[in-house]
Amino acid sequence: MSDGFRKVAIIGLGLIGGSLAAALRARGMADSIVAGGRSARTLERGLALGLIDAGYQNLAEAVEGADLVFVAVPVSAMADTFAAIAPTLAPGAIITDGGSVKGAVIEAARAQLGAHRSRFVPGHPIAGKEKSGVDAADAALYERHRVILTPTPDTDPAATLVVRQMWTRVGAEVLTMRPDEHDRVLAETSHLPHLLAFSLVDTLARQGDSTEIFRYAAGGFRDFTRIASSDPVMWHDIFTENREAVLAATDLFAAGLARFRAAVAAGDSDALLGTMTRANTARARFLAMNARTSYTHIHTEQSMSTDSHSTGAPANPVFVVQPGGQLSGQARVPGDKSMSHRAIMLGALAEGVTEVEGFLEGEDALATLQTFRDLGVVIEGPHAGRVRIHGVGLHGLQAPSRSLYMGNSGTSMRLLMGLLAGQPFDCELTGDASLSKRPMERVAQPLRDMGAAVSTTDSGGKGTPPVRIRGGKPLKGIDYNMPVASAQVKSAILLAGLYAQGETRVTEPAPTRDHTERMLTGFGYPVQRDGASVTLNGGGTLRACQLDVPADISSAAFFLVAASIAPGSELLLPHVGINPTRTGVIDILRLMGADITVENERDAGGEPVADLRVKSAPLKGIVIPEALVPLAIDEFPVLFVAAACAEGDTILHGAEELRVKESDRIQVMADGLLALGVEAEVYPDGIRIRGAGQGNAAFTGGEIHSHGDHRIAMSFAMAALRASGEIRIHDCANVATSFPGFAELAARVGLQLAVQQ
Ligand code: NAP
Repeated sequence: MSDGFRKVAIIGLGLIGGSLAAALRARGMADSIVAGGRSARTLERGLALGLIDAGYQNLAEAVEGADLVFVAVPVSAMADTFAAIAPTLAPGAIITDGGSVKGAVIEAARAQLGAHRSRFVPGHPIAGKEKSGVDAADAALYERHRVILTPTPDTDPAATLVVRQMWTRVGAEVLTMRPDEHDRVLAETSHLPHLLAFSLVDTLARQGDSTEIFRYAAGGFRDFTRIASSDPVMWHDIFTENREAVLAATDLFAAGLARFRAAVAAGDSDALLGTMTRANTARARFLAMNARTSYTHIHTEQSMSTDSHSTGAPANPVFVVQPGGQLSGQARVPGDKSMSHRAIMLGALAEGVTEVEGFLEGEDALATLQTFRDLGVVIEGPHAGRVRIHGVGLHGLQAPSRSLYMGNSGTSMRLLMGLLAGQPFDCELTGDASLSKRPMERVAQPLRDMGAAVSTTDSGGKGTPPVRIRGGKPLKGIDYNMPVASAQVKSAILLAGLYAQGETRVTEPAPTRDHTERMLTGFGYPVQRDGASVTLNGGGTLRACQLDVPADISSAAFFLVAASIAPGSELLLPHVGINPTRTGVIDILRLMGADITVENERDAGGEPVADLRVKSAPLKGIVIPEALVPLAIDEFPVLFVAAACAEGDTILHGAEELRVKESDRIQVMADGLLALGVEAEVYPDGIRIRGAGQGNAAFTGGEIHSHGDHRIAMSFAMAALRASGEIRIHDCANVATSFPGFAELAARVGLQLAVQQ
């Protein structure tokens, strides 16, 4: 389309047709707009409302000379309408429609439009109102709504492009689909719910005492049946014209309803809770997708209200932190992410019900949780970190009905590859765009050596998701020397080893996190550890347990540093995991002079935990021992903040891995430090930071860009404790993924932090 259309003919000037006329008119997209219709009254109203320049009861006359024809009559009237306009259509005219069913309309166009059929672009605006008719026309109806186009192989792509641009210009988002796919998806998501609403109200209304029933009907009834107020004629057409897809959707639903009924009849709590918890999560996902925001965001929002109408852009909060202050009291930071994943996995495979507390409700661990629901495991929660997993035993997982979606979680995908390699069913593992670029062969290869049928997607030899696993392959134990140190590869092989015949042994070239083997022990599964090797035998049993997931030391690190640098602070961090592969941050802070005591050491599900007490102390700059670098790799951003407050220089080398984390953490931190007046020199593998020393403000106020990196954002929030002015940190949305509730917790113990949306 250049500047606009010369003449647009709308056939059927009701809600859908009238709204397009109004939208085109409001944007000056057509020199003239006319309508063709049945009743003179509608056309007169169209003229009076200023929607059209002329109205014709003779449809053939209406379309003469039009370069765009939009047909918006009921679906059952489409064939007659096409037959009426075909003889007078201009040679290059583009014809499109707004019908709610596509297969039947395409068939009608093929039969009636003759030579013009290749210029027919089938469409369906997903927008509407309970009112119909020309008086309900609304120029804004399509703004921020979707329009589905279903071109066929015969459709002229140039015509599709014109129609796409037209809808985009009136504010809609355009998607394309195959016509049969459109009709199936709409049958399931729109036609079936309407059918149910009509049917429920009618069924109850036919009862003798229906007036009484409706008098006492509560909000749930009103919400569920709202769409039974829709236009019966239009819906008659939809059910008739999309008959096959509506029948298939109804049968699918009838089977689900029968299962639900049977569960109620049998008092089968597992089946009831399973259905409803899966539905809860699926709805939260659906709302998140519609709001185009994160799953966790909607999940928390949903627990506050029963519905969400948010359709805007995702919120990207700004942290605004006032200078000074001190920290006191207790701060229980969220559970460890690695352990949250494993708690769900092993709880699902255990015999009995596992109760988990302290589960991290971040997107990644929630992806694991959802996957096990898809594999037939009943999981209640999470509610404030509490989860109850109704374990199905090592051999109780069920075949999923569709691909297992892992979102952005590499841990979920790699560990599940191992666990699913030994199942009797086939499955496919998929992820979001970023996970779909990450290599999976380093897990797939050793699993194949065990006898598994695992294939990755080639994408230039990188072996990426989707990963496909063929079930029913007997696995045998292996003795595997890992070429690279990776906790995920080690864990995947050990999980496959649970299903393998004989002994599985993994030897690592350098120490990696050992949460899987520790938690297996916590679930009563025998695991032998001998130096760099871990060994287990297949065919054992996991026993359900109570698990209080230790608080994540990586999250605790922000508070360890904050209380150390803010004079007069004393903070207790209860139940923090102190797995020796993770405690580098405590060692480094102590070398700098921090006052951290480890109290009440104990075991939680095989993991060492303790309460950490930290008091403010004068810090001094150090050369960080390279041996400690891998043990504190995620904590360096906040350690840099500690370094800026210490007396003298702190020097870090051997940390090139920091450059390939969620951001180039060395450069992004250096930029932030410089913006706040700190002197820093960047090396390829590290940094030197000049500290301000005790008693001085270490930072000026200023603006920080976290580049979407949650740890950068939280680190600079803590810097405000020793700043001379306000610090504003942009791009903080991702904090919720790793540390839900960070801002509230930090503010509660004394940080002067406010969140601007
Ligand atoms: P509407 O407001 O009732 O308008 C229908 C229009 O079609 C009226 O102008 C009417 O003319 C004309 N019409 C009705 N029966 C006809 C017949 N047998 N022959 C010729 N013209 C006839 O309906 P609408 O909501 O705009 O729906 C129009 C189309 O859009 C339908 O195909 C529907 O499936 C689709 N759609 C509707 C919605 C929605 O939510 N409403 C959403 C998406 C798509 P008179 O005024 O002269 O009676």
